[in-house]
Amino acid sequence: MDCIFCEIIKGNIPSTKVYEDEFVTAFNDLNPQMPVHVLIVPKKHIASANDIAEEDAELVGRVFLAAQKIAEKLGLENGYRIINNCGEDAGQTVKHLHFHMLGGKTMGERII
Ligand code: 5GP
Ligand code: ZN
Repeated sequence: MDCIFCEIIKGNIPSTKVYEDEFVTAFNDLNPQMPVHVLIVPKKHIASANDIAEEDAELVGRVFLAAQKIAEKLGLENGYRIINNCGEDAGQTVKHLHFHMLGGKTMGERII
């Protein structure tokens, strides 16, 4: 199985890690869209949000607990946005579940 994010998690592909625990890892996006653009990635390979199983429910919660810690570490006290692209229509390019954490700038109320 060829998965870029699994390779990053294993340390076989370099990345700038900003957070890691038993369940998730987080690193800077290669092509940042905002002053802060971190990808929060569960260590378990799950292809997309649509592939989250019952047994993964807690793991998804862990992503948001990690986000709180990353926000504190990176000084996102004014807030942040978390986005998940699921499937083709959403433009998901990497088939390993990940959450874009964006911040460092006021984004306004519109999402797209
Ligand atoms: P998606 O479109 O699947 O939601 O987002 C994939 C994201 O992964 C993109 O924002 C892209 O810039 C990022 N990305 C793709 N390959 C790599 C990589 O090798 N390293 C890092 N750090 N980010 C990557
Ligand atoms: Zn993977």
